[in-house]
Amino acid sequence: MQQDKRLFRHIVLMGPPGAGKGTQASILVEKVGLKTFSTGQLLRDEAATGSKLGKKIASIIDGGNMLPSRMLMKIVGKELEKPLYREGYVLDGVPRKIAQAKALDKIFASRAFKKYDMAIDLVIYLQVPDEYVIERIIGRSQCAKCGTMYHDKFKPTQVFGICDHCGGKEFTRRADDNYEAIMTRLKLFRLETAPIIPYYEKKGLLVCVDGTGPIDVVSEKIRKVVGY
Ligand SMILES: [Zn+2]
Repeated sequence: MQQDKRLFRHIVLMGPPGAGKGTQASILVEKVGLKTFSTGQLLRDEAATGSKLGKKIASIIDGGNMLPSRMLMKIVGKELEKPLYREGYVLDGVPRKIAQAKALDKIFASRAFKKYDMAIDLVIYLQVPDEYVIERIIGRSQCAKCGTMYHDKFKPTQVFGICDHCGGKEFTRRADDNYEAIMTRLKLFRLETAPIIPYYEKKGLLVCVDGTGPIDVVSEKIRKVVGY
């Protein structure tokens, strides 16, 4: 991809679980004013409306299953139609499958979007090796009182066992932050999500960024690519 002086505003952040996509997306939101959404939250919101679609969604997610791509993309498309996304967006939980990537292209090419020129203009792939993902996820903990995130190795509390922020002494860990669950997520990523990478590469949209190292080092690399 040519590195010109333009600022990219229609961005997809990709990478394996634990690559830091969410963190980097929120930095882009803060620094560039891009808008984003959590697909999980969208689904929970739609389910809470009690609409026909919402009820269907609730029955699928309550059963611990993934929503079919067609249904998911319908909701994502509806969200992206909101005027707030016209000035720019960063997506970090979608697309997860090639069918979703193709559906996104169709959405942005559709009549509702065409005049706003919202097509994806940059896909950043955060590259991190598996060992790194495992190490990063397994060490995660969160203050039970104030929600501050910690990591045993990368971001420990200043005083052992005491939250820097609120002095809390209780910490929680996500049940799926264990070795087996992480391996399953990595396998799923390789099987379903990784095939999207060549799809975007062929379109000339892909830039790979080394996602290892401290958050500010990675965000600086992303800053250069995005051009802000
Ligand atoms: Zn705390």
